[in-house]
Amino acid sequence: MRRSYSALAGLLAMLLFCPSVRAQQPFAVGTASAAPGQKATGYLEVPAGVDAATNIPVVVVNGVKPGKILALVSGAHGTEYVSIIAIEKLIAQLDPAQLTGTVILVPLVNIASFEQKVPHVNPVDNKSMNRFYPGKSDGTQTERALYLITKQIVDHCDYLIDYHGGDLDESLRPYAYWGPRPFGTGPHFKRNGSGLRARPHHYLERAAH
Ligand SMILES: [Zn+2]
Repeated sequence: MRRSYSALAGLLAMLLFCPSVRAQQPFAVGTASAAPGQKATGYLEVPAGVDAATNIPVVVVNGVKPGKILALVSGAHGTEYVSIIAIEKLIAQLDPAQLTGTVILVPLVNIASFEQKVPHVNPVDNKSMNRFYPGKSDGTQTERALYLITKQIVDHCDYLIDYHGGDLDESLRPYAYWGPRPFGTGPHFKRNGSGLRARPHHYLERAAH
């Protein structure tokens, strides 16, 4: 086995606090629009630019009662499979008839990484899809995708969890971390030239082979 990591480590990597916005009725993200008590599927449609367009699947589960908006995002690295599978299972399990508030679920941000089995980056532009927030509308595919996620999800949720896990060439120690401050300003984030970068990588152990 090239990699081994616990389900816990795979499920929880980053807890981000977003500006508070009350749930609207119906609630739409991308082409997914759900009335109260409904679950809707659709896409964040990333337009073509300097490189190809892509469609990122998104699910909105809109509870019968208004409340907080929670966003769950996984697969920024498309070969970190544990959390991608976890979000897919959660999509099937969430029942809007029993839900207060709204849940936005994005199980796989990095489509090309998943399809081509390329770890760490989006092979379309060779950029890591958790390193270029808040994105750019006129950038490469990674930047255009993150711009849409910022505008349509980050800016409209109360809480966001960005899930990661050990990648194809990594094994991960069980850990969890979180930050009490607004997105991008907490102690668990630092800015580099290309955007936000989470700190957890000192917890990662590269596989010996
Ligand atoms: Zn990752």
